[in-house]
Amino acid sequence: MTGAHQGWRTLKVPIRPGAGKPTHCPWGHDLAVGGVRQSWSQDYRAPEWVCEACYALPGRTGVWAVIDPAVERQVPEDSVDEYGLRLVVVPPPTPAGIGAVRLCLGHKILGEIRMSLCATDRRAVLVHLHIDEECRRRGAGRVLVAAAEARGIDFNWTMVPIERDPVSIAFWARLGTFGSASASPRPCSHQIEAGVIPACD
Ligand SMILES: [Zn+2]
Ligand SMILES: [Zn+2]
Repeated sequence: MTGAHQGWRTLKVPIRPGAGKPTHCPWGHDLAVGGVRQSWSQDYRAPEWVCEACYALPGRTGVWAVIDPAVERQVPEDSVDEYGLRLVVVPPPTPAGIGAVRLCLGHKILGEIRMSLCATDRRAVLVHLHIDEECRRRGAGRVLVAAAEARGIDFNWTMVPIERDPVSIAFWARLGTFGSASASPRPCSHQIEAGVIPACD
């Protein structure tokens, strides 16, 4: 273990949301054709996979780790220790208020997604997604979006208009937005009461 070093506290190995054996590598290879090996990430404390097709190509490692975004795998803040890559839940102050899921490597917060969920109306509004600059383009955003979605399965999802910087546009253009990218969020009365969308007041 190199846990004493700070250097590994970034996303050196890219991540993807999922559970069980993947069918494709993050670079698009069909693993049934190219082959795949499983290993284990000590830093992330998560399953790690090696795409044989990538591995055979020059300049590539073909390695990525899989983070299970399921609600049962998301942990409360007080159970975070210095090890592993975890999805940490920050509950909303009020039932339909804004809560968050953070991606933490040990105690270091690498990114956060904020959203409001109303269980009564089954509405979800994605309010904000932020990934530390040094951790971008490694799958952190996808993992956080999957973790948020897992908290509102079968909810009617909308989101605040995406930020118009190149990084945000590229991210949502690849992943797909919740509802139309230019559409307004559709909060329920409880979410409006909770001040989820100040602009709608
Ligand atoms: Zn590959
Ligand atoms: Zn509601």
